[in-house]
Amino acid sequence: MTETAKDRLQQKNPPDARAGGLETPIQFCPGVGPQRARLFEKLNVQTVRDLFWHLPRAYEDYHHISPIRGLDVGKTVTVIGVVTAVEGRLPRGRGKVRHILNAQVKDATGYLSVVWFNQPYLQKQIKVGQRLLLHGKVDYFGPILQMSSPRHQEISAGDDQSDSPGVVPIYPLCEGLTQAVVCKVIRKALERFSGDCREFLPEALLKTNGFPARTEAFRILHNPQPGEGAPTQEAASLPEGAGSLEDAEASSAGLQCGDARLIWEKARKRLVFEEFFLHQLILRQYNGIRKQTPGVAHPKPDPDPWTPSKETLDLSNPRTWPAQFVRSLPFQLTQDQIQVCREIELDMQRPAPMSRLLQGDVGSGKTVVSLYAMIVAVSGGAQAALMAPTEILAQQHANTIRKLTQSLPGLNAAVLRGGAKAKERRLNQDLIRTGAAQIVIGTHALFQGQVEFKNLGLVVVDEQHKFGVNQRQQLIEKGIHPDLLAATATPIPRTLSLTLFGDMECSVIKSLPPGRPPVITRWTTWGKEKKVWEFVDGLIAQGQQVYVVCPIIEPSETAPHLPSTEAAFERLSQTFFPHRRVAVLHGRHSAEMKEDFMMRMQAGQIDVVVATTVIEVGVDLPNATVMVVLGAERFGLAQLHQLRGRIGRGTQKSYCVLITHPNIAPYAVKRMRVMEKTNDGFLIADEDLRLRGAGEQFGTRQSGHINFRLADPLRDGQLLREANQAASQLYRADPRLKNPEHQTMKQELKLTFHRMEAFRPS
Ligand code: ADP
Ligand code: MG
Repeated sequence: MTETAKDRLQQKNPPDARAGGLETPIQFCPGVGPQRARLFEKLNVQTVRDLFWHLPRAYEDYHHISPIRGLDVGKTVTVIGVVTAVEGRLPRGRGKVRHILNAQVKDATGYLSVVWFNQPYLQKQIKVGQRLLLHGKVDYFGPILQMSSPRHQEISAGDDQSDSPGVVPIYPLCEGLTQAVVCKVIRKALERFSGDCREFLPEALLKTNGFPARTEAFRILHNPQPGEGAPTQEAASLPEGAGSLEDAEASSAGLQCGDARLIWEKARKRLVFEEFFLHQLILRQYNGIRKQTPGVAHPKPDPDPWTPSKETLDLSNPRTWPAQFVRSLPFQLTQDQIQVCREIELDMQRPAPMSRLLQGDVGSGKTVVSLYAMIVAVSGGAQAALMAPTEILAQQHANTIRKLTQSLPGLNAAVLRGGAKAKERRLNQDLIRTGAAQIVIGTHALFQGQVEFKNLGLVVVDEQHKFGVNQRQQLIEKGIHPDLLAATATPIPRTLSLTLFGDMECSVIKSLPPGRPPVITRWTTWGKEKKVWEFVDGLIAQGQQVYVVCPIIEPSETAPHLPSTEAAFERLSQTFFPHRRVAVLHGRHSAEMKEDFMMRMQAGQIDVVVATTVIEVGVDLPNATVMVVLGAERFGLAQLHQLRGRIGRGTQKSYCVLITHPNIAPYAVKRMRVMEKTNDGFLIADEDLRLRGAGEQFGTRQSGHINFRLADPLRDGQLLREANQAASQLYRADPRLKNPEHQTMKQELKLTFHRMEAFRPS
């Protein structure tokens, strides 16, 4: 979350226990306090409501406790035993292992050796005499049977079998918060605040759908009982080839009421439905306002840029700028790009406010189309704003715009930078207010605070999936009704986008610019790392630039095998690339550093960039042709595709290497295979949907378009349609939600609106 968004939230939610109910700040939850509250905030959990919505990313089934004697080698098992010895030590030499903790546990049948690597803090937790539940894989270490880096949980004395905690939720964590703590805090909060979690969906609706009440739905997802059918990771490993979406739907349709699997599924569906339903209501209210407002009718460019002509243009007349812009491009626009430019141009000429989605796979050339639309707006005397999801991207767009509009005299672009000094900011604000800057580029800060436009006629939103409908409403609330063009690389079917975005029109760029060789993608595991770097070094020697992507910034104590930019930078710059120029880039760097970084990268002064997913969207550096993704199993298909979209943007051969832990879940394996097989974003989206339909519910970031917490428009299309209808009905009956029965819903709507608006760059 950005500083401003956070500030706003904090103003609305001052830490005050009196706020009460689900709005109670997390700090006042049993077992939290100010210090832990700060940790929870890192997980975007600020209130009890957020805590309820902090849902498990997976479940593990600890139901079956195995006796230690006769454990199956190579299998993941759960055992319960008493610790008989424990010893921590530092290994000799300077390998990847920095700390080893050995323990021995015993049950009625035998002894088991347990080892944890690089988790020195465990030494304080694990003590002789404790009874532990351990869940992990057993293998031979020399002649000894050993369990390595298992999950563990202390349990009280009693009979081993009946002690099993059953199905255990696995929560998303951050540094400093353990599973045990998060689990306990959530359970306590559920007990204490369940009564405040009021139902707002109409009862008839719950009945026809067989949805559980709200509190019950949260309870089931957080704390599923053995018979309720939560999908545990073991159960989720379907056999190869099984489970297309149709299969999944057919089989769940065939289930009887009361079937275990159905209880959990209904609870999930209820919460998904709730999210869609609220979003649909917001959309209707927004559209209600929009329909009543006249927009800008931009004049037609003159001469028509699409009719071939050699006539010299009078550039002192801005109306000629669209034609000049197209003529002066360093490349030929593709047929698709031309087609889409024309659609947009025609739509802009109409008096109703445009509301259009610009869809095209990564690298398909959406920027130049957006830019054309902006020039059209400017040529008619209006201002155009371009909103990017990150500072890096805003800066890059500014550079592109300057480059591609050099031949247009009197065209001025202003960049609103997050890190700008007060003087620069004031200067820019003046330029925008007086209209001296016709084009304005920035992040979402564009529409906050002091910025006042003279005559804003078009807003382009790049990477629409990072942008909510609510920001559009912010604009309208400022009394401005510009045309809207939203560019996105996420392919969504038209029917879905209609439901999801209301009445947005859609323009699609179907093909990539010519001459792009497909990116060659290979998946490998840690053991082969050295070979990968040798290969990469050969490419650097030929003058290529390399991205190395890591899932996190600092090494994590709770997930010690997860690659971090910090560790990777150290290792790469010291061990593998001491002779190369290696740099780090992540979201915590200042705007200046990011800017400086982009310049050095563009100038070819960096060979290897170790980065987080800050580079995920939009970054366009055609000379970067190699990407190595570390911990690739942590990313979803949509995200991997977006990441890979950073390379293969020129005509050179490009390579993407996905490196994972050797031991990854079956679905993660499938994701890697899909990435190896195809570069086609639409195919990948299909596969993504298929895998998720087959039961991969968790663990990967969803390709969301809106800040939903649980709902996924692609996977839950049917629920979206139903929610759409239900919301329609309700909106017709009570558009302003004045009915006393709808007051809880109204309240909920306000809070949801506020949350969806909160913008979260990585
Ligand atoms: P995206 O659709 O992912 O936003 P970009 O707009 O960043 O893609 O374009 C990717 C790259 O393709 C850029 O370097 C851009 O200059 C180039 N490009 C765009 N259109 C064409 C074209 N018609 N011919 C050749 N290169 C193009
Ligand atoms: Mg782009």
